[in-house]
Amino acid sequence: MSDLFDYDLFVIGAGSGGVRAARMAAAKGKRVAIAEERYLGGTCVNVGCVPKKLFVYASQFPEQLHASKGFGWNQPNELVLDWPTLRDNKTTEIERLNAIYQTLIDNSGAELFDGRATVVGPNTVSINGKSIRARTILVATGGWPFIPSFPGSEHAVSSNEMFFLDQLPKTAVIVGGGYIAVEFAGILNGLGVDTHLVYRGSHLLKSFDREMSDKITLGMRNKGVHMHLETQITTIEKNSDILQVNFASGDSMSTGLVLYATGRIANTAELGLETACIELRKDGSIPVNQHFQTSEPSIYALGDVIDRVQLTPVAIQEAMVLVDHLYGQGQASIDYDNIPTAVFCQPEFGTVGLSEEAALESFDNIAVYTSDFKPMLQTLGGGNDRISMKLIVDKATDKVIGCHMVGEHAAEIIQGIGIAIKAGATKAHFDATVGIHPSAAEEFVTMREPTR
Ligand code: NDP
Repeated sequence: MSDLFDYDLFVIGAGSGGVRAARMAAAKGKRVAIAEERYLGGTCVNVGCVPKKLFVYASQFPEQLHASKGFGWNQPNELVLDWPTLRDNKTTEIERLNAIYQTLIDNSGAELFDGRATVVGPNTVSINGKSIRARTILVATGGWPFIPSFPGSEHAVSSNEMFFLDQLPKTAVIVGGGYIAVEFAGILNGLGVDTHLVYRGSHLLKSFDREMSDKITLGMRNKGVHMHLETQITTIEKNSDILQVNFASGDSMSTGLVLYATGRIANTAELGLETACIELRKDGSIPVNQHFQTSEPSIYALGDVIDRVQLTPVAIQEAMVLVDHLYGQGQASIDYDNIPTAVFCQPEFGTVGLSEEAALESFDNIAVYTSDFKPMLQTLGGGNDRISMKLIVDKATDKVIGCHMVGEHAAEIIQGIGIAIKAGATKAHFDATVGIHPSAAEEFVTMREPTR
């Protein structure tokens, strides 16, 4: 039976989820192939999480240098950024990671195809003019930035281009209020670009805790980002290198760059999914069942292309669950509740569990503990950053059902708290935990009186 197929598993897309699935399946002795048309490691490694975090680090040096003065460090000169050095060193690091991915795939025994694979029917893909039969096909093609179409939208760039700019503009307009918009606003502002964030809504990061969103907005403003909330762009005009952005209010402004960070859509166009009669949602994403199976039984999908939770670690966990389902014990599962996440805006935001608004909707009686304070670094370092923390507790069970933090090291701190919440920690557990002093994180175990 197995001889009917060239491979047990053919994975389309060598991003975080696809590569993990291919490697794990190969480790179980399966005959695996994986196809990639663009770059190994997908969005996260090439134009997402990794280079973004490198840029975040780069953008924080001026503040750190400023803070160092109060600790006695004299600097003879102002910092000057050499953008090409940052951009090219970043690219060198990404190429190193691409090579590691190549080695991981090679060592796993999976066969890597360099090219665009398309589905040509159940159990069959086509790549580089060759037809290949696979018992199972996995679509892990990820997502792609979405820019709405309007007069002049062709002058806007997406996050993909931000990693390869020839030069940094003096002024930038960033559109959107989600992860990518606020992260790039912090990066550009920190790198010295006069940064304007334009968002159609009234509160950034709208699916998160409202109070935390307001703290982020305030923190970004304090660092110098110009906020334009409840603002819409109607057209963009280009006059030589200058872009004129026209707003619905009738105002306009000139800028060197317009970044649209207005969401990402599933990468399913021209993938041939219709040849296997695979159902797609209106936005192009692929609906799957609890085993990541599409409407065609031999074809599976996971990661950003199924548009459940667009996060790298989620895609990786989905891949582990799928491989266990297909080739293992079938015991592994993924729980989409209480996924910790961080937004690397400045100030940084880390969160796990329910926002206060969501908790109020789902629970009859909650207690909310909050703390807002000046980080110790600033006592000598100056600056006006704050740290804000919030714990939300279900009074009926004493369980902590939400934990949020805005401020330095929020991602690192919330990762640990995520484990506690996953384990069902109660407020009494938090209270019984000894703090680490002096740290910002200790505040999470010393919140005694509820704020409301
Ligand atoms: P998001 O979905 O997070 O945000 C999109 C933003 O664009 C929203 O504020 C939305 O407004 C706005 N928007 C959508 N359509 C339009 C439009 N036509 N005109 C004006 N504004 C519009 O998408 P991102 O692109 O920021 O990021 C995509 C995903 O990638 C994230 O959701 C996240 O899952 C992942 N990601 C994760 C990161 C991390 O883990 N740190 C970092 C970066 C990305 P509204 O709020 O009104 O709907």
